[in-house]
Amino acid sequence: MYFNRWNRGTVEQRFAHYVLIDDSDKCWLWIGPTSNGRYGALGVGSKPKEVRFKAHRIAWEIFFGPIPEGMKVLHTCDNPPCVNPFHLFLGTQKDNTQDAIRKGRFHFNSAGINQYTKR
Ligand SMILES: [Zn+2]
Repeated sequence: MYFNRWNRGTVEQRFAHYVLIDDSDKCWLWIGPTSNGRYGALGVGSKPKEVRFKAHRIAWEIFFGPIPEGMKVLHTCDNPPCVNPFHLFLGTQKDNTQDAIRKGRFHFNSAGINQYTKR
């Protein structure tokens, strides 16, 4: 885990503050800041060295420990704001692409070019 205690409370406390849990089995919705309007983001460390981590990656680290180098944290529920660690799995960029294809998120336009579409 990169983070421990720090001046604005522990990462766990701040994470919990931004998560809406209705039912522990369902999606946990991130209601805090987002990085690009889709994925939650939480700044870790103090300025100017603050680093923003994606909320679902933080969820993974809090519950399961460090994410291996180069691995991505993907959603089984395909819901970007979800941070339920039990809806997450580790994969590579290739897995991510294959997952998107499987879920029908890649489409070919008339020019035959791959187009990634949002749901
Ligand atoms: Zn979910």
